[in-house]
Amino acid sequence: MDGLFKRNIVRGDISCVLCAEGDETAEHLFTSYRVASTLWPIISLWCKISVILAFSVKDLLETHESIGLKGKKKEVIQGIIRIGCWSIWKARNEAKFNNKETKIEGIIREIMTVGFIWLSSRSKDIDVRWEEWCKSVYM
Ligand SMILES: [Zn+2]
Repeated sequence: MDGLFKRNIVRGDISCVLCAEGDETAEHLFTSYRVASTLWPIISLWCKISVILAFSVKDLLETHESIGLKGKKKEVIQGIIRIGCWSIWKARNEAKFNNKETKIEGIIREIMTVGFIWLSSRSKDIDVRWEEWCKSVYM
């Protein structure tokens, strides 16, 4: 909404449709919105990595480079964070256009499911099992 407002495409209220606690900027939606700020520490625990600390979208999208990861795990964490952003964006659109309530459990479930499908269909050399995947992102 902030981007559309700056381009004179929308007028008036640009507050966040999910919480109304700030303008809907990319930073708000993906880093400081309470669901996002709760989500990233949970994802960090699940992935067994240092806590994702992001104050901007740039920080978030560069996390995999800055927390001491190498090889496959680094690529997988990059993918999971992107899936997380996609899931938040989808939840935002569901709230905005279908008036659906956002639940962090749903976002987490979607990240795990989409991440599993993505990894198991795209990676030939990683054997991923659903039960193990749900417990932690190992590799
Ligand atoms: Zn918000």
